[in-house]
Amino acid sequence: MTTYIVNTNTKEVHKTAKVESRCRINEIKPQHRIDTDNAQVYFAQGYNGCKWCYPEKNTG
Ligand SMILES: [Zn+2]
Repeated sequence: MTTYIVNTNTKEVHKTAKVESRCRINEIKPQHRIDTDNAQVYFAQGYNGCKWCYPEKNTG
């Protein structure tokens, strides 16, 4: 399993270590989902941390 799951539709990054039901990972369409160990590249593009599993990177 990778460290992060990225939703390119909502532009949110989820942490697989803390992911929970409210993250709705299972509802991310395959074409919008990227499993990765490198989240920095997405934050550099303006992505937000998930407020449930990655609040330290959530900017609201
Ligand atoms: Zn999440």
